Amino acid sequence: MIEKFIKNEQLNFIKKQIAFIKDSTKKNVAPTVLAAVIDLANAKILDLFPNAASAQQEMLDLSRLKTDAEYEEYIQRLSAFLLPFPKITEQHLKKMFPKNKKLKLPDLSKLDHSKLTYLSWNDLSSNKKLIVYELDGKMVGIECKFSPTSKKNICSFCNCFSEVSYFSTVTKEKKHKNSDYYRAIGNLICTDSSECNKKITDTEYLTTFLRDSLGI
Ligand SMILES: [Zn+2]
Repeated sequence: MIEKFIKNEQLNFIKKQIAFIKDSTKKNVAPTVLAAVIDLANAKILDLFPNAASAQQEMLDLSRLKTDAEYEEYIQRLSAFLLPFPKITEQHLKKMFPKNKKLKLPDLSKLDHSKLTYLSWNDLSSNKKLIVYELDGKMVGIECKFSPTSKKNICSFCNCFSEVSYFSTVTKEKKHKNSDYYRAIGNLICTDSSECNKKITDTEYLTTFLRDSLGI
């Protein structure tokens, strides 16, 4: 039996590669060019899983797929191997934000844990966005202030052009000599995090941002 081994952002990455292959197919590029596009997509996908066992590699291999139905079936098959976002309780969330006495919690029962890279929700009453992610095996959370106006731009997390808002967070980083020094980080991030979770293909920026904010 093959264990679950694919993260939400990795499946998004695979979907993006398939979209690229389909796009090249539609453009009627030369067969050799199309073969190269497929080879490259396949190599990029396998690169995401350097420790994949041979059965997993076989499952990831898309080189023999031709039709839209076959690609669809491939995605369906891989979806069964999605690693879910860690189980989290309301109690746990409250503990993560001890200073926020009026913390508004998301409806955890409505979340599809298999389609989450990070958990985030907006508290419109206080103009805050809360972000929770498993960093180095530990759940961490940060609060960002956000400006209520949204606009179309590139999101820092998913790198897609979408409806974003400006979020800023005060980092825990301090300079020794000046205890009043606080550094704030500002970002344009998808206003709707469920949309962002559908598009995010890697966690490089997200993890860097969390480490910077938390000073770890
Ligand atoms: Zn986004």
